[in-house]
Amino acid sequence: MKTIAFITSVLCLASSSLSYAATNAAVNTSSNNTKLVNAAMPELMTLYKDLHQSPELSSVEFNTAKKLAKTARALGFEVTEKVGGTGVVAVLKNGKGPTVLIRADMDALPVKEQTGLAFASKVITTTEEGLQAHVMHACAHDTHMTSWVGTAKLLSENKKSWSGTLVMILQPAEERGRGAKDMLADGLYKRFPKPDYALAFHNSASLKAGVIGYTPGFTFANVDSVNILVKGIGGHGAYPHATKDPIVLGARIVGALQTLVSRELDPQDPAVVTVGSFQSGTKHNIISDQALLLLTVRSYSDETRQKLIDGITRIAKGEGIAMGLPEKLLPVVTLKDEYTPATYNAPEFTNEMAQLFTAELGKDRVIEVPAVMAGEDFGRYYRADTSIKSMIFWVGGVPHDKWQSAQETGAGLPSLHSPFWAPDARKVIATATQAMNSAVLTILAK
Ligand SMILES: [Zn+2]
Ligand SMILES: [Zn+2]
Repeated sequence: MKTIAFITSVLCLASSSLSYAATNAAVNTSSNNTKLVNAAMPELMTLYKDLHQSPELSSVEFNTAKKLAKTARALGFEVTEKVGGTGVVAVLKNGKGPTVLIRADMDALPVKEQTGLAFASKVITTTEEGLQAHVMHACAHDTHMTSWVGTAKLLSENKKSWSGTLVMILQPAEERGRGAKDMLADGLYKRFPKPDYALAFHNSASLKAGVIGYTPGFTFANVDSVNILVKGIGGHGAYPHATKDPIVLGARIVGALQTLVSRELDPQDPAVVTVGSFQSGTKHNIISDQALLLLTVRSYSDETRQKLIDGITRIAKGEGIAMGLPEKLLPVVTLKDEYTPATYNAPEFTNEMAQLFTAELGKDRVIEVPAVMAGEDFGRYYRADTSIKSMIFWVGGVPHDKWQSAQETGAGLPSLHSPFWAPDARKVIATATQAMNSAVLTILAK
């Protein structure tokens, strides 16, 4: 109890920007929250297994959206469907106070499940690209949705303890990086109450089940897909002097690109330039007239992102000039329309939430973790209005026995998107639901 009292006082001191009038009350209800979550778990696990068995790919989450919209309606939310495609917005107005947005993503991946679970997915469908594919919740967005329902249930049944507005959204197409963009473009902040706070979590395949990981500041990276079209002058492999070889030029570009991060950026400023694909040529003795390089480019700040894009363009063109190509044959750099902006956790708000989670779950279950270079389109909700205090956190899903044996043997664990990723869903859902519930009860304390 001593620890809790200490954390409570720290929270009150640290929260000048928030009105935590009932922080003490929130902390005192920690064990009550645990009880409420535990009571909801059997029903939530049934929902989880159902969602797990019926995954849908990005932008076609029709049944998932319909099912959960119905659930939210039954809990008393005002529900709007088909926002930005299959998106769902569930609003619960409960008197004066700030607005809190909670987001869960709905889409699954074209992966053939190999977890061996009794309720493993057997779904096969056709992808956007027209390919037949098995479908699996390999990023475990099914745990996000189940916890979303758990949070909606707990808060709707406890309206006397909070005052304000809840905007709970189910987002399509996170895996394609476009769901948040589409919901915002469809008037998320205009047709519905605009949030003062935004929260989400992602299950983690590198944290022990039930452990929360948080990162103040940048937590996910800017992700750009860049194409470099390298042109040349084709000809016979035995007469290279009569050609301009795009493979040699492409190789020079790949080499020179390695200096962008290592020589041009501040070593304290993380970034990635990866050439993921290099395609050219058809036969041993033909010098091709074209090569295509496909890059993934990652950074945190807008400035670094621009520096990398400018650098890639300069290097590609510069190497073309060095090879003696005429102006019209110089390499062409294009940015694919698949940009995912970096996700930024408001540092003060994130630290406050971390302290609250610590009071709820204990200090061995809440840890600060480094940012990652992966992408998450949750960052768009903050970027659309930077006055919003936003935070996304990790909830560990690695089952304790697997964690233990990995520590002992050094064996690798399946990552997110792996056909073998089977989180300890019960722990992920219970932990996330308790954290979200306590966050809202604190932010919207009467
Ligand atoms: Zn994913
Ligand atoms: Zn995901």
